[in-house]
Amino acid sequence: MSAPRKDPAAVEAEVREKIHLEILKRTGAYHANDHVLLPSGQHTTEYIEKTLVTTEPSFTEGLGAVIAKHFAQWPMDVVLSTGPGALILSHCVARAHPSRPIVVYGTKGLSGGKRRVSLPVEFHRLIRPGTKVLLIEDLVSTGSTLTLLIEMVEQLGAQIAGVGCLWRRTSVDLGDRPVFSLVSRDFPTYNPDECPLCRKGVPLNEEFVRRRSHRKPSSVQEPRAL
Ligand SMILES: [Zn+2]
Repeated sequence: MSAPRKDPAAVEAEVREKIHLEILKRTGAYHANDHVLLPSGQHTTEYIEKTLVTTEPSFTEGLGAVIAKHFAQWPMDVVLSTGPGALILSHCVARAHPSRPIVVYGTKGLSGGKRRVSLPVEFHRLIRPGTKVLLIEDLVSTGSTLTLLIEMVEQLGAQIAGVGCLWRRTSVDLGDRPVFSLVSRDFPTYNPDECPLCRKGVPLNEEFVRRRSHRKPSSVQEPRAL
């Protein structure tokens, strides 16, 4: 008796995902086998530094082209970046998509204590009823920004024709919209009092949280155009 064979398409997807993960590692953005303090106060073994993800132009172009190829059969009018941070990737996706879509970005902020997204006023006329939108994010951890942007686009009467990202935590649910991520991966997060790494006495890496708090003064300002 032979062992049950895996579906070749699934194997191919797995191999592709490994290659993409390797590319992210080469940018220095992806940290594995660590014991990391997250901004939420939880601990985890893996971490991605968002700001490093698109520092290598040829990698970003390659990854953007993979996302564009996935959505190539669907006409797109606009690539909507979730924010200025995902704009480089969005540019690379738009550049490689056969429809030659334009690129715009949303901005995030707080209003009345609630998270909000909006479009810079100059972009308002570019997303109209019937506009086909490809939404691009670099890393999706909770999906809350994507959900807000999807609501905004649909309220304008436009259509989310696809959502593309570099990395998605598999627990994120975006309904029945076509989502494509280069890496779909979940890693466990622990409360400090239940963390197995703490129990083993592995030193806690607080570096990423420290860096974020150093950046705070500029990040609370209104988002501006680049
Ligand atoms: Zn821990």
